[in-house]
Amino acid sequence: MESKKGISIGGTLIWYYYICKREVWLIGHGIEPEQDSDYIALGRHIHEIFYQRRKKELSIDNTIKIDILPGRRVIGEIKKSSRYLESAKMQVAFYLYYMKREKGVDMEGLLLIPEERKRIKVSLTPELERELEETVKNIEDILEMERPPSAVKIPYCKKCAYRSMCWA
Ligand code: SF4
Repeated sequence: MESKKGISIGGTLIWYYYICKREVWLIGHGIEPEQDSDYIALGRHIHEIFYQRRKKELSIDNTIKIDILPGRRVIGEIKKSSRYLESAKMQVAFYLYYMKREKGVDMEGLLLIPEERKRIKVSLTPELERELEETVKNIEDILEMERPPSAVKIPYCKKCAYRSMCWA
């Protein structure tokens, strides 16, 4: 989705915003992480297996990629674990917000965590819409910074593909 300042913002940046602002900057500036990260590989593997027969991936406006569950007005997002649940919920809420605002379509969201056999419903509330508007503005501000925000050590750093760049 294109922000008021013309910056392209997708679900991935929303997810990282709730994890690490520095990572938002690095991704937003196209800085490549280590592609052989175990974490990236595991995520790709789970996604491929789980959605082998079920998924219908849709790219909208070349900005967001979402999985539409067949026969339902539901946007599904798959995650490896519920560890970063808040981020994952906001990512799904962003897709719902995008579909409502840009396409005029009301949808429900479903967060799928196959390894934990969890399915969590996400609905777009007025509070979530307000929060997302604020989040999009904050992401724009981060991306306009000349340098990335300083690294702050958090538990996610251990799995982060940028760890060697931040903590070498
Ligand atoms: S290693 Fe840590 S500080 Fe650096 S981008 Fe990743 S999560 Fe952020």
